[in-house]
Amino acid sequence: MKLPRLQTKLQAMTPKTPRREVVQTGFRNQFQKLYNHDWRKARARFLQANPLCTYCENRFGRVTEATVVDHIIPHKGDKTLFWDEKNWQPLCKYCHDSIKAKEEIKQGYM
Ligand SMILES: [Zn+2]
Repeated sequence: MKLPRLQTKLQAMTPKTPRREVVQTGFRNQFQKLYNHDWRKARARFLQANPLCTYCENRFGRVTEATVVDHIIPHKGDKTLFWDEKNWQPLCKYCHDSIKAKEEIKQGYM
């Protein structure tokens, strides 16, 4: 009987960790765990209480609906910073993706 032996060999050849999991264990992706159901609820509540983009209001005197809750100090996976509402600010997607990202690059956060 050669067949059972072949099967054992095939099992040994199968990698223990699928490739996709290896890719997802990057440093940045550990943060993704923080953006869970609790966060989405807290985020929605915060945006309801703070519906306008802070940057647009302060810098351009513009009224724009905020759609992103931004962490003023990048939390880098730090749960205390992540959940500290004093560290949150409402931003529109434009400000978050352009201005904030540029600032973080300048400050060496990204
Ligand atoms: Zn804005």
